[in-house]
Amino acid sequence: MRSTQSVAVTLANITKTFAGQPALSGFDLSVHPGEFVALLGPSGCGKTTALRSLAGLETIDSGTIMIDGEDVTDQATNKRDMGMVFQSYSLFPHLTAGENVEFGLRMRKVPATERRQRAAESLALVGLDTHAARYAHELSGGQQQRVALARALVTEPRVLLLDEPLSALDAKVRVQLREEIRRIQIDLGITTLFVTHDQEEALAIADRVAVMQAGTIEQIGTPEELYRSPATPFVAEFIGLSNRVTGVVSGGEVLVLDSRLPLLHPETPPGAVLVLLRPEEIELVASGIPGTVVTTSFLGSIRRTGVRLADGSVIAVQHAARHTPAVGETVHLELSGAAVAVVPAPVD
Ligand code: ATP
Repeated sequence: MRSTQSVAVTLANITKTFAGQPALSGFDLSVHPGEFVALLGPSGCGKTTALRSLAGLETIDSGTIMIDGEDVTDQATNKRDMGMVFQSYSLFPHLTAGENVEFGLRMRKVPATERRQRAAESLALVGLDTHAARYAHELSGGQQQRVALARALVTEPRVLLLDEPLSALDAKVRVQLREEIRRIQIDLGITTLFVTHDQEEALAIADRVAVMQAGTIEQIGTPEELYRSPATPFVAEFIGLSNRVTGVVSGGEVLVLDSRLPLLHPETPPGAVLVLLRPEEIELVASGIPGTVVTTSFLGSIRRTGVRLADGSVIAVQHAARHTPAVGETVHLELSGAAVAVVPAPVD
């Protein structure tokens, strides 16, 4: 298959309401040519609506959608030249895998010989060239989604839209297929938007991740930017596992677990807060804050250990797997000193 002429995609100030309820409000997103952007956020935050609006499957109330510098806001779906893959297996059950992939080309009146050849190439791209004659019920879930991907790509679309394409698959297949999607996307250079509510998936696969809440993007950045420097407490809580420990902000720092730590946002007003501490920013040391091990899990190269402190709270600590604390053992903790995000403490 040919690589794609990479295009930029812009959604500017999009508003979409359903029965008076806003699904998107002032939604802005610019995707660079050939970029892979994941839309990440909790259920109902508007991810699918954003994708469907870009595809022309939803009529937006206001805003502008541009593809490759062209205003497509009022253009019909079939003119926007997009490939789409959805969560549920959407193969036609009465067609073989090959015929499913050929379908879009048949609609475009591509001659039979060329259709067959292009479908074969597209199936080869997803590693299923030997499965062209199988029907959907003769394919696994992962294979069906590969066929759906081949079907989306066979028409050489300018943009690829993926709406939770992995969520019906089991964990191992999910990881394999997401890596394959990424490989194919890079090979083809196709601008891609990927909807997921799984933060690990978004961080693993995307060039940039847009974290959404209530119809707008709260923050967009590379996975590292979001993880290291969340712009808001919502992003800090949504990206990665964080402990919440009470602390007090004063003088641009926060006092937490007997340590004074720099604040990620030094302008935070003084007062009681919950401090979000990443498990990898807490260390097991010979002498420090004492606690009792309540859980410990082996996670390959690292281990995550739950430690109960004197006040009864349990803190998750991530450390090298060679340290093997036993449940019931007394250990000591120290904070690494990295800048931390805080959220307002709940009022009793
Ligand atoms: P999920 O992860 O659960 O799929 P999402 O982030 O993709 O959620 P959307 O499907 O975009 O969210 O929905 C955003 C809001 O718009 C929700 O409150 C939803 O109930 C509402 N909504 C979406 N589609 C429709 C529709 N066709 N009619 C009425 N309301 C809708």
